[in-house]
Amino acid sequence: MNDIAYYNGKITAINDMMIPANDRGFYFGDGIYEAAMVYNHKIFALEDHLDRMANSAAMVRIELPYSKERIGEILTDLVNQVENDCQFLYWQITRGTAPRNHLFPAQVPSNLYVYSKPCKGVEMSDEYKLKSVEDIRFHCCNIKTLNLLLNVLAIQTAKENGCQEAVFVRDGMVTEGSHSNISIVKDGVFITHPADNLVLPGIERKHLLAYCRELGIPAEERAFTLDELKAADEILVTSTSHPSMRVMEVDGQPAGMKDPETIARFRAKYMEDIAK
Ligand code: PMP
Repeated sequence: MNDIAYYNGKITAINDMMIPANDRGFYFGDGIYEAAMVYNHKIFALEDHLDRMANSAAMVRIELPYSKERIGEILTDLVNQVENDCQFLYWQITRGTAPRNHLFPAQVPSNLYVYSKPCKGVEMSDEYKLKSVEDIRFHCCNIKTLNLLLNVLAIQTAKENGCQEAVFVRDGMVTEGSHSNISIVKDGVFITHPADNLVLPGIERKHLLAYCRELGIPAEERAFTLDELKAADEILVTSTSHPSMRVMEVDGQPAGMKDPETIARFRAKYMEDIAK
């Protein structure tokens, strides 16, 4: 197949999949999701994604429809049915299907929706531009919830300002991007926001911290200001689908791009990792 969609056991092409309007994801965004890259038909960092999925589900009290291991098997089976070696894999779990009512539905199983589609390969950039926006999201940004309205508004504002990503700023401190984590390198030190309730614990962020340990690069998990971001030697925007986007401009002013060696070392580690 060229691409694939799955909903509670039913399999179709993505464009042909139909979801009941009473799926609570539709009314309330009442669900959680994950996205992973597939290289050579292998789901990269699958265990990390399954662990985060289980944490997100637990935080919003959604019971998984199957065990983590079974969900991993379903995902693996689906990506093996798509011809392309490199794929973008998405899945979400919602709190079941029931007539609209804010209260949890009684005894309704949760819904698993998955799709996987071909993608080009590893996307990296040295030309990212950031637009700062106020972070007025809720205080549970560590949950990978389907509720992404303010993230959608932020990336749209960034695009309308000629930028590829928005940088959320809360009380003067940088939190993260609209769909990425944002880290800096200053004087050889890697600095990234703590994995608290104000950011998503990104899988790429986690991998970068591991790369720092392996490469002997000092790392600090602490919040930094927008001014620190603007004065950083390097600014790195990371996510599963865009693992290493190097920033050259923040709010219309040149920024970063002063420590190419550190960026090259991170990128080499990533390429090594996905080849394993
Ligand atoms: N923060 C937000 C708000 C995101 O949406 C994402 C990507 N889903 C990330 C950070 C990066 O997470 P990951 O590295 O797991 O893709």
